[in-house]
Amino acid sequence: MVDPKEYLERGLFFHGHRCPAMPMGLRLGAALMNALGVSRAKDGQLVALVELGDDHCATCFADGVQMITGCTFGKGNIKKLHYGKWGVTLIDKASKRAVRGVPKAEAMLANKQTPFFKDYREKGIPASEVPPEVVDPLVEKVMNAPEEMLFTVGEVFNYDWEDPPHSFRSFVCDLCGEMVVEEYGRVRDEKRICIPCQEKVVKGAF
Ligand SMILES: [Zn+2]
Ligand SMILES: [Zn+2]
Repeated sequence: MVDPKEYLERGLFFHGHRCPAMPMGLRLGAALMNALGVSRAKDGQLVALVELGDDHCATCFADGVQMITGCTFGKGNIKKLHYGKWGVTLIDKASKRAVRGVPKAEAMLANKQTPFFKDYREKGIPASEVPPEVVDPLVEKVMNAPEEMLFTVGEVFNYDWEDPPHSFRSFVCDLCGEMVVEEYGRVRDEKRICIPCQEKVVKGAF
């Protein structure tokens, strides 16, 4: 069993500030891992599909998911689905099984009604500048609430995930001299170039 409390300090360090969303990600990540009976992905054993979009509230949530599941931006085994929702599907590639969990609307609405959001975040105050006496009780609440108060976790289902092919091929851009993955290369006037150089050529900057 994965215990989200064991990841709180490291999660806070990685994330950078105290807020309720990152701990929600820790808790949901742990719930999904325990439903599948898996441990943290050292490589790409697990894949997390997060339904978040960009530039909206509580995207901090994804840092908790990354911290606890080991599905990270760097390893490429976390994908954003851009639905503007907070559901997460965790896939175990070895057993070809997956499970989806989602924070309960009531739990998220309750968070939004707290001084952390009303008096600070909605007024544009960065989370790192919210006094500890305002944010700490929220973090404690998320870390200690019973799972069924926070999330809905669905049934485990079959999911045969296939990794897209992994490219090891690269070349040096003829214009900027920087390395480029072959699949991202462009050809212009017999030259092999990168995307930013192509954009400059189009704008007439070269
Ligand atoms: Zn945060
Ligand atoms: Zn270039």
